[in-house]
Formats: sequence, C-alpha cells, structure tokens
Amino acid sequence: MPLDPKILSEIKEKLLAEKARLEEKLGSFAKKSGIQAGQYDTKWEEYGDDEEDNAAEVAAYGDSLGLEQTLEAELADTADALKRIEAGTYGICASCGTQINQQRLLARPQSALCLECKKKE
Ligand SMILES: [Zn+2]
Repeated sequence: MPLDPKILSEIKEKLLAEKARLEEKLGSFAKKSGIQAGQYDTKWEEYGDDEEDNAAEVAAYGDSLGLEQTLEAELADTADALKRIEAGTYGICASCGTQINQQRLLARPQSALCLECKKKE
C-alpha cells in the first residue's frame, strides 16, 4: 500500500527541516566545497603560533573533521530521501522492494531499508 500523501508531505517537511539544520551546523565550522554539492571542508582555526596553540589547533581540527564527516553523511542520506520522494520511490526498501513501515519512516525519514534488511546489513 502506498504511503498516505499526508504522511508523505509531513515526512518531506521533516527532511527539508533536517537538511537546513545540517547545512547550518556544517556552515558554522566548515565551508562548502566548490567541487561537489553537499561536501564541506572543515576550516582550520588559528589560535596562535606557539606550540600549545598549534597542538590545540590540530585537536580542534580533528574534532571538527570527525563531526563534519558525520554531518555530511546525514546530509547525504537526507538529500537521497528527498530525491526518492521526487522520483516516487520513497518508502520502498532499496534492498527487497517492500514497503517500509510507516512508523519507521516517521521516526527516521532517511531510512532506505526496511527493518528486516537493516538487521541483515
Ligand atoms: Zn527490505
């Protein structure tokens, strides 16, 4: 059974809000890469020139880089889900082709797999 259009538009709104939130968060410490859409480069923060400052810069950059990768992956999942809505394939498991449980989609709108396939992954 296809998704209720009302549910689908609710999910689309959630995804758009999530996309905006992720882009804003990424934009606070990284700049958009000119090469690939949805890709960001973490900014290097200058604290100072002595050894302690340099060590702190490296640590901060490492932390940001990890966060950048996490957020980027979430952003990619969110963008993919929006593409599936446009393509009319949203809510269908990418692996087995069955309809993904509506509650699961509402709880995690980025889901591309049904619960069974997700478990097997
Ligand atoms: Zn499946």
